[in-house]
Amino acid sequence: MEYEKQKVDEGIGKRGMPKPLHRMSETERLERRARIRIGSEIIAYAEGFMRKEGFVQMLPVLLSPITDPLWPDPAAGIYKRLEVDIYGTTVRTMHSMIVHKLVGTSLLMDRFFVMSPNIRLEKPERASTGRHLFDRSQMDFEARGASSAEIRSLIERMLHGLVEHIGSSMREEFSTIGAEAPRFKVPFGVYSREELEKRYGKDWEDELPKHISEPAWIIDLPREFYDYEDPETHRWDNFDLYLPKRGELVTGALREFEYKKMLSKMESAGVKKELYSLLLELAKDGKIRHSAGAGIGMERLIAWITGAEHVGDVQAFPKVPGIVYEL
Ligand code: ASP
Ligand code: MG
Repeated sequence: MEYEKQKVDEGIGKRGMPKPLHRMSETERLERRARIRIGSEIIAYAEGFMRKEGFVQMLPVLLSPITDPLWPDPAAGIYKRLEVDIYGTTVRTMHSMIVHKLVGTSLLMDRFFVMSPNIRLEKPERASTGRHLFDRSQMDFEARGASSAEIRSLIERMLHGLVEHIGSSMREEFSTIGAEAPRFKVPFGVYSREELEKRYGKDWEDELPKHISEPAWIIDLPREFYDYEDPETHRWDNFDLYLPKRGELVTGALREFEYKKMLSKMESAGVKKELYSLLLELAKDGKIRHSAGAGIGMERLIAWITGAEHVGDVQAFPKVPGIVYEL
């Protein structure tokens, strides 16, 4: 679909849209500064936590012939995939480092994480959801030999420690924005997607956040070829973490590592298997190891903790779908 160019003035004129720095009032800038200072502390805490858990931090990859197909995933709303030819080869902007994570945990490092910038050109109508950006970062991590339950528990421990730390160390910043860090109990409740579909219908993703008061895990979500599907029950060993009012914060899973399963899932989803030939070859040779991992949306995490209306309000240089800001 083609979209008309949307001027920055029109875009940010709409209620609640994040403004660029040079168009903010002094008060608005003070609030943005406080959110970004809290964000900086959140990033440092999350990185330190992962290191203590034995994860090695690696630097991100931004362009690659292989990236996340983001298909089939009901939460994906991409209007255009960015591809560019370099040195005679087509590369794509990173949607997520999922394939790099599968290969990395198999051939290089048992446990690692990346603060990974992802460019996903979300549909412009997603500007006003408050949850979408076209240029954002996730803490993307993977652990060889781990289970989904282990990854979920690690995230719960991280978030629990994080809000305690931030609540006590960033008092001045919280008072500037007139907010408090969220409180919640761990472990979080677990719901199956099937149960939610029965209760709320097909739009359960939009309905659920209105009905929960604490973060909640959703399990068994049919989606991309790399998440593990039980061949007998057809249940998916994967999960999302949903926040009250805000929706999805985390996506993760136990992974497929068997060649035949990956191949047949790619075929039935209509994903171009030529793009994943390296992964398929490694899997065929038995070189892809069992792993599990997840990605935590950093802007969503910071926006939740600082009570920001829009995820772009925690970016120094907002990247809202459909609006091309000057910086
Ligand atoms: N590939 C997921 C995403 O970026 C994250 C994960 O499953 O680890 O949405
Ligand atoms: Mg997701």
